[in-house]
Amino acid sequence: MVTVRNNLTSLLIKTRLLPSLRFLRNLRFYYLSNHPRQISWAITGLCNSKCIFCEAHEQLSNQKDISTDRVFSLIDEISNTGIRSLLLVGGEVFIRKDIFKILKYIKTKGLRVQVITNSLTIPLLSSEKIEIIKRCVDEISFSLDSTDTEQYDFIRGIPGAFSKVMQSIKLLADARVKQHITTVIYSGNMKQIPDLIRFASELGIRSVHFQLISPATIFENTKAKEGKLQLLPKDEKELDMMDRYILEGIERSKKHQINTNLKFLKLYARTYFQNYLGTGNGKEFFMDSLLKHHRCLSVFTNNFIDYDGSFKLCPLLPALGNVKEEGLQGLLSKGMEFKGVFKKGTIPLKFCKNCFCSADINLEFSCFLFPFQNRRLLWHMH
Ligand code: SF4
Ligand code: SF4
Repeated sequence: MVTVRNNLTSLLIKTRLLPSLRFLRNLRFYYLSNHPRQISWAITGLCNSKCIFCEAHEQLSNQKDISTDRVFSLIDEISNTGIRSLLLVGGEVFIRKDIFKILKYIKTKGLRVQVITNSLTIPLLSSEKIEIIKRCVDEISFSLDSTDTEQYDFIRGIPGAFSKVMQSIKLLADARVKQHITTVIYSGNMKQIPDLIRFASELGIRSVHFQLISPATIFENTKAKEGKLQLLPKDEKELDMMDRYILEGIERSKKHQINTNLKFLKLYARTYFQNYLGTGNGKEFFMDSLLKHHRCLSVFTNNFIDYDGSFKLCPLLPALGNVKEEGLQGLLSKGMEFKGVFKKGTIPLKFCKNCFCSADINLEFSCFLFPFQNRRLLWHMH
């Protein structure tokens, strides 16, 4: 079954149908739906990692986590609205004490579940708990930012972290859980891009998603970590090197038939970093340097519930309310008003100027809606 699925995935990647199918599936949520395709849910505020580019470890705790009872009733509400997909993130998902009860409950509702984990606690799990992951999680996403032990441990801020992620990948591969890799790119690991693809292939993992480091923080009322700007490429020479690694990565992903978002990174990574280097064209919103017309599709496809219950159309936008106090349906209705503003093409730059994680989907969508105006980018897209 797994081989058939892998072969089918390889065929879709080869024929470039996979991104298009995903993209077309998302369009429905812009034109026809009152709810997003997916909810990303920070199920706990606690994290056991100290990643160099993240404030979670310093800023968060589980004090404000949503109670088990409300988590369960919220799952009911999510299912009743017609949303079929959940992405569980943290903090660290597997630190939450009742997480296995929650996973089992989500499964009874028939929702698709993807989990992003730093994997530090997975090697300690009993076989019963691994079995629950196998039964209830459709895809598990490992944060893997380097193939080098020392560098990986440095990025995570935890000695022995690399060995733990390797053990976790093996454990869950043996349990036949579908796996995925997410990688945050910063100046120190960009030359790892091609290696990470080879590594994924050797581990039997078919998809790697690269995300550019953001010097901003997604945590409200929190300052970005000091020294984060130093983690960005520092000059045009480094950006030239980054472009080369991205192109090499594209070649390698074709060779190993790994699905990646590198074809998008090739288009925007340089402009994104130039904005912070102050060598770009001075536009506050880096997308404006690339696109003549821009629309955000992300707010229509993926909304966010934070660890403290705040409901947001996007992690970078202000909360529309709190699920501890209001029902999800009411919050989604409030969201419809704001979606109308986005449909008209107004981007609230105060919040969106540091947009980083949805650039792929928004670029593709903007080119789809305005092919003539954005023809230069469209030409380079395939
Ligand atoms: S990036 Fe993820 S694993 Fe790392 S500290 Fe932040 S929340 Fe924890
Ligand atoms: S930050 Fe980006 S993804 Fe979020 S609402 Fe703004 S444009 Fe959309």
